[in-house]
Amino acid sequence: MSKFIQFIAGAVCPSCKAQDTIAINTEDDLIYCVKCDFKENRPVLKEKNNQSINVINIDDFKASKS
Ligand SMILES: [Zn+2]
Repeated sequence: MSKFIQFIAGAVCPSCKAQDTIAINTEDDLIYCVKCDFKENRPVLKEKNNQSINVINIDDFKASKS
């Protein structure tokens, strides 16, 4: 069974400044960075409905990194 992560397109991590690394955990409503340890309750994202969310297969994501 594959896991899916939802990425926020264009979001920049406030911790490591990487782009397109911010993902949403829909189960506990946390946002987190896949590159560093940044993790936070979803703050302003609910008010910004113009944020697009990319859903990708985490296996594909890992494969593209190797
Ligand atoms: Zn980060």
